[in-house]
Amino acid sequence: MTKKVLLIEGDGIGIEIVAQAEKVLKAVNEKDNLGLEFDYGMLGGRAYDQHGHPYPEETKVKAHQSDGILFGALGGPQWDGKTERHLRPEQGLLDIRSDLGLFANFRPATAFPQLVDAAPLKPELVSGLDILIIRELTGGIYFGQPRGIRTNDQGEREGFNTDVYSESEIRRIGHVAFQAAQKRDKRVCSIDKANVLDVTVLWREIMEEVAKDYPDVELSHMYVDNAAMQLVINPKQFDVIVTGNLFGDILSDEASMVTGSIGMLPSASLNEKSAGFYEPCHGSAPDIAGQNVANPLATIMSAAMMLQYSLNAPESAQKITQAVNIVLDKGLRTRDIQSEGCTIVSCSEMGEAVVEALNTL
Ligand code: ATP
Ligand code: MG
Repeated sequence: MTKKVLLIEGDGIGIEIVAQAEKVLKAVNEKDNLGLEFDYGMLGGRAYDQHGHPYPEETKVKAHQSDGILFGALGGPQWDGKTERHLRPEQGLLDIRSDLGLFANFRPATAFPQLVDAAPLKPELVSGLDILIIRELTGGIYFGQPRGIRTNDQGEREGFNTDVYSESEIRRIGHVAFQAAQKRDKRVCSIDKANVLDVTVLWREIMEEVAKDYPDVELSHMYVDNAAMQLVINPKQFDVIVTGNLFGDILSDEASMVTGSIGMLPSASLNEKSAGFYEPCHGSAPDIAGQNVANPLATIMSAAMMLQYSLNAPESAQKITQAVNIVLDKGLRTRDIQSEGCTIVSCSEMGEAVVEALNTL
């Protein structure tokens, strides 16, 4: 059966990096006879310029019909402060996430052995690191009501947000985490602040309840302050981490830095149907946009995640990962990951090298 893939470049380096991932996807599609069908949509600043909205109706229709969406990055200084808040490029990303109900954000923090020497921690702490952070993406303090800035009884202004999670929201992300752990090292660490925040007392209770359905998976709990520390002193103790929106935002950035290869890391955001949205962890890098020097590997790895989670092609996903490793073994590097003795290649040369490696598998 044909599966529909929607490719969205976005802005800045999004254009260059998605073009490379597209080459790789088309190559694996042909090689493995996946029957993928490709379509194209717009999101962000250029979408606003062309359609008057950062998440145009046309993209919305296509997004709902697709089985997987591969996205680059969006935004740039040319749009900063130029549009109303609800029409900013970044709003396009929030809009598509809530429109598609993308509640589960997967961010693997995997150390590439070829790049471990460049990591900020000692190589022995990083080598072999393979963590999967699962962040709840549509609830918690980022969306809780009421919120705002008000004047209190003393006539002073105060800002406030509400951290709220319903049982069903916690249960839903809990099941996602346990099922992911079943396919990995069978350990889930749930991160909360249950000694202080009531919302996470409930979070912990529901995680315990969900765990009963997965006797093969071990559940542990950790306070977020300790987790932030443990990620730096002993990151390899973690397999799957599950946490709420705010803690997940912070910890996933921390974990990806620990690997030493933030420019290499993909992400997936999934909904109930697992029609997912895939994007690199980095932004649109306006400082190097249009120069053909960006690292396309995070986007190529995002395409691999899409094959695995949304397109039912885990072997093809594996081949892409293998091809990326071959290219790194050969010593090919984009500027951002350069090191002594390696060959610096452009964005498009890197994409072509991955395709070439793929064709040898
Ligand atoms: P956002 O808010 O969209 O996440 P950001 O402000 O965090 O964006 P990025 O766009 O991720 O910033 O860029 C941060 C730095 O990393 C910039 O110097 C940029 O050039 C560099 N960078 C980001 N992605 C890449 C990439 N794929 N290849 C090379 N360099 C990159
Ligand atoms: Mg950023």
